[in-house]
Amino acid sequence: MGDEKCSKCGADIPMDSKFCLNCGTKIVKETQQVHEPIHQVFHFLFSKNLITAAILLGILFIWIGVIIVTFSTDLTGLRAAQTLNSLGFFIVGVFLIGGGIVNDKMDRFVRLGMIVIGVYMITAVLALSSLISP
Ligand SMILES: [Zn+2]
Repeated sequence: MGDEKCSKCGADIPMDSKFCLNCGTKIVKETQQVHEPIHQVFHFLFSKNLITAAILLGILFIWIGVIIVTFSTDLTGLRAAQTLNSLGFFIVGVFLIGGGIVNDKMDRFVRLGMIVIGVYMITAVLALSSLISP
């Protein structure tokens, strides 16, 4: 991992070299695109696959919460459902915000929409939980 290919001859180029060892082509674009480690971690954390997985997990939590509410007869079930719902909303919200901030290849309005929806979901969770447990 980390090695790039020469755009001219296709030979592998070590990450820190400025020229292709095989044909001598100057490597400009590749070295400019190397991100700092933290940036790479965030890109990995909020990659499209992980965001999709997190959102699906969040929806699953919300869905299980709804099922518990439907079948629960006492307050314990309701509280468990509420916790699951909050957790689900929170996970989806965090990954929407993170994904919107980090994925600079996406359309900026889509990213803005993701951030706004994420902030809304987290605010809603915080407001709801403070209402229910005084
Ligand atoms: Zn080359």
